[in-house]
Amino acid sequence: MGSIEVGSEALRPTRTELDGLEILSRVRPGAPIVGLLLVVGGLGLQWVLARSPELVERVFARGLYPLLGGRLGCLTRLLPISLGECIVLVLAGWLAVAFWRLAPARERRPRLRRLRRAALPVAAALYLAFLLLWGLNYQRQPFAVSARLDVRPSRIDELAALGAILVDEANQAREGLPEDGAGIMRLADGRLHALARTEAGFREAASLYPVLAGCPARPKPLLTSIVFSWLGVTGIYFPFTGEPNVNMTLPDPELPFAAAHEIVHQRGFAREDEANYLGYLACRLHPDPGFRYSGRLAASVYAVNALTALDRKAGDRLEAGRSPGTRRDLAALLAWAERYRGPAERVSQRVNDAYLRSQGEAQGVRSYGRVVDLLLAERRARPSSVCPPRPWTPSSAQGDGPPVGHDLTCRGIGYTLERCPCLHDG
Ligand SMILES: [Zn+2]
Repeated sequence: MGSIEVGSEALRPTRTELDGLEILSRVRPGAPIVGLLLVVGGLGLQWVLARSPELVERVFARGLYPLLGGRLGCLTRLLPISLGECIVLVLAGWLAVAFWRLAPARERRPRLRRLRRAALPVAAALYLAFLLLWGLNYQRQPFAVSARLDVRPSRIDELAALGAILVDEANQAREGLPEDGAGIMRLADGRLHALARTEAGFREAASLYPVLAGCPARPKPLLTSIVFSWLGVTGIYFPFTGEPNVNMTLPDPELPFAAAHEIVHQRGFAREDEANYLGYLACRLHPDPGFRYSGRLAASVYAVNALTALDRKAGDRLEAGRSPGTRRDLAALLAWAERYRGPAERVSQRVNDAYLRSQGEAQGVRSYGRVVDLLLAERRARPSSVCPPRPWTPSSAQGDGPPVGHDLTCRGIGYTLERCPCLHDG
């Protein structure tokens, strides 16, 4: 009887044992070894698959991923807010409270030791889930190979010509768009409505590239957008919930492009240059003029920045060709970046750089800029002779822009044949 009572007392949980950290720390002594083996196995899997991109493309990117990560997005899109962000906030709060209640002092050391023992297997499980739900897309075949785009080193004059066309197209797309009191482009019916419309561009893009088809995505507005602003992050894709998330402090001219970029990630394209290019493409084909402008503005910035890095005067000449409206919008984007510049943003950049390199992106954060190579490759499929740039002039801003739908004709020809009528000649 006595032994039973003693046993019952020993089995009865105390108040402190009920806190969150105790749950995490109930792991077997061999768990770290298992966690280590799982991490090594995951790294080995990535290493092997990085050498078989065709296999990853066929079996994972177009096979397993749409059934796993893609389906997750189908479910979570039903929620108006980001489930992934809520989970992170709840976990952060739970850990903070658990640490706060980590008393008395004599119990801290053994419990922290058990917590450390749990950390590796938990991290290993998250890492493997990341790979299976999305991360292996870093090892898929480059989009340029799938789309038969001719990516190769380009001459400066090719880059200058591309920049001139993109600046011109951004100028044309800016005409007639609504503005706020400061003359900054404004999304016609608000930012949340705009986010909900992002998918429309992907329906058009999928008719060009069926690999872009998928469950309609719903970009989520980040509740903690201000935190992401200080980190210099415009959007983030949560692989564990299949949700594209967007920083809602972004100025209107950039918001549609940022949302489209995150949806591309959800479609299974992990590399940043491809997310930029396909996001631009989805914006360019979008029925909403605000999206068409946002994509073109972003592409023009990447192209002009690349040119300026090689030939400052040539870059300045292109900048001088921007219309007053696009200049005001770019000034607003610059002001946004300056407002949140600081140590947190620099650390965040370094973390992102290290993360991208760990996933096989040798250029780290500079890989975003490789979108220019894809834009140049696309342009090779559209000979310059049929798409000459036209400098912006005040008279060209008087409403003679291209009709809606012209671009659809353009891409329909441009990607399947060699020639494509350009926007302003239509
Ligand atoms: Zn991205």
